[in-house]
Amino acid sequence: MKMSNLYAPTLKEDPAEAELASHRLLLRAGMIRKVAAGLYSYLPLAWRSIRKIEAICRDEMDAIGAQEMMAPILTPAELWEESGRIGAYGPELMRLEDRHDRTFCLGPTHEETFTDLVRNELRSYKQLPVTLYHIQDKFRDELRPRFGLMRSREFIMKDAYSFSATQESLQEVYEDMKGAYARYCERCGLKALPVAADSGEIGGDSSIEYMALAEAGEASLVWCDCGFAADDEAASTTVVVSEGPGDGTLEKVHTPGLGTIEAVAAFFGFPENGTRKSLALIDGDGEPVVAIVPGDHELNDIKASKLFGDYHLMSDEELEQFGLHKGFIGPVGLPAGIRLVCDESLKSSTRWACGANEVDYHYTGACPDRDFAVDMWSDLVTVKPGDPCPHCGKILHGGRGIECGQVFQIGTEKYAAKMGATFADENGREQPFYMGCYGIGISRTLAAIVEQHHDDDGIVWPVSVAPYEVSVIALDKKGEAFDAAADLADQLAAAGIDVVFDDRKERPGVKFADNDLMGFPYQLIVGKRGLQNGTVELKVRADGTREDLVLDGAIADLVARVERERR
Ligand code: ATP
Ligand code: MG
Repeated sequence: MKMSNLYAPTLKEDPAEAELASHRLLLRAGMIRKVAAGLYSYLPLAWRSIRKIEAICRDEMDAIGAQEMMAPILTPAELWEESGRIGAYGPELMRLEDRHDRTFCLGPTHEETFTDLVRNELRSYKQLPVTLYHIQDKFRDELRPRFGLMRSREFIMKDAYSFSATQESLQEVYEDMKGAYARYCERCGLKALPVAADSGEIGGDSSIEYMALAEAGEASLVWCDCGFAADDEAASTTVVVSEGPGDGTLEKVHTPGLGTIEAVAAFFGFPENGTRKSLALIDGDGEPVVAIVPGDHELNDIKASKLFGDYHLMSDEELEQFGLHKGFIGPVGLPAGIRLVCDESLKSSTRWACGANEVDYHYTGACPDRDFAVDMWSDLVTVKPGDPCPHCGKILHGGRGIECGQVFQIGTEKYAAKMGATFADENGREQPFYMGCYGIGISRTLAAIVEQHHDDDGIVWPVSVAPYEVSVIALDKKGEAFDAAADLADQLAAAGIDVVFDDRKERPGVKFADNDLMGFPYQLIVGKRGLQNGTVELKVRADGTREDLVLDGAIADLVARVERERR
């Protein structure tokens, strides 16, 4: 491919609308263009990478026996009525009517279509399990489409559906999928964590999200070197707490104007963890509650909702109504009628530094059971980095993640039973299929790769998904050195390398900047001076290193290097 012909209109300036590196760089490198909110065209460079990501995905699906097919994007609304999802999916489901006024949905995912496909044709347990998949555009009318390919309204997804005769068989398919997903991420050059998407209460997981680690991610995660990984909102651990100041006697201390954890900790010269944070709220039944957590942790909304229903934090008026003072709430001397719920981690702590329920006063040395009664101990906090791992006790790391894929064990109820999708078991009895579904965001993967692989100059593609593996940059605009560059590009192409030849009549500086922006992993820089010495220069985009390769053997060397990195 000649760069002079390549349709990749680059931008000099950062586009104002792009907050994330991936969005900004994909626009700047001339790889994507916006058509409307959440709708993007993939220009030739991006499309080459997308096809490579798809190929990796296909390879992994095929390797575990999943079969590729293609179902229509449009799905009749009746199918969504059968599963009951037509209402549940809400306004994200894009609908349209045909000329006969029949309603169709633009598929946001295809459980219904695939369940319908097999329900009358997969008849016997002997035919099972079967896993089918397709790679196609999906549509979701996202409330806030944003961040370019990260959250768009039309995006490319690989979705797979498995049909098994037993839970054991579903479990096997699911385990195979987990292996395939991990390899997919790895081969795409993504550092990703498998994060349990459910509580795992029934022993083992039934859904895993594959989270690519990146600052730009929407999910907040904690993980451990031992392999544990979880959404911080969903995780539970035993938070380590320190004791407050004093010798254990209850003491009221004048703390004028010190209404925040930070100020109180500084006043006592103690870590925030040694203080106690008290939150006043009204539970779902309208009853007042004070919830107490270690000073350096937050009340976890999901856990609180489970305990307190549709709760809210008290407003200033409500605080006044219940005789509470903002910044000085605590467990000792709590006005009557207020339920006290404390985080489990505080159970064995006997010297609490906490509000005194009096403006400008705190207690130190407050001790549960002796100085106040706790109505309930419960897990209330959001786990954070530095807390101990619930599995092995080592320190948890923290960071953000982008969901690139998810695997689910759906079971029999949600679709198969509802839609009458059954097979005959060994005894000839009709049974609903044990189903699994497995999605990968192909276009989001592209954005996630850029989030993990870029620097100030542009994208730094891993070889496996690079639009071109090598760019040959001619320093001269014509003449022998230019012809030599063209010849090297031809040789690389003939050896099966994806190569682009920067033949443009531009200054070397412009070419270097564009090649860096577009992120080709290897740049072969060919100029008169080098050729006179029998060398060409190789620049490695990832680390910026440059070395002179002896012309004789340079191609064979480079080909071997690229092939090693293709995965
Ligand atoms: P999210 O929580 O990010 O909205 P989801 O859990 O609803 O995603 P799934 O139904 O699990 O998404 O879809 C499978 C995969 O499709 C996701 O893991 C993600 O990679 C991708 N995906 C989902 N929504 C979008 C979107 N609006 N734009 C791009 N990719 C998406
Ligand atoms: Mg998901």
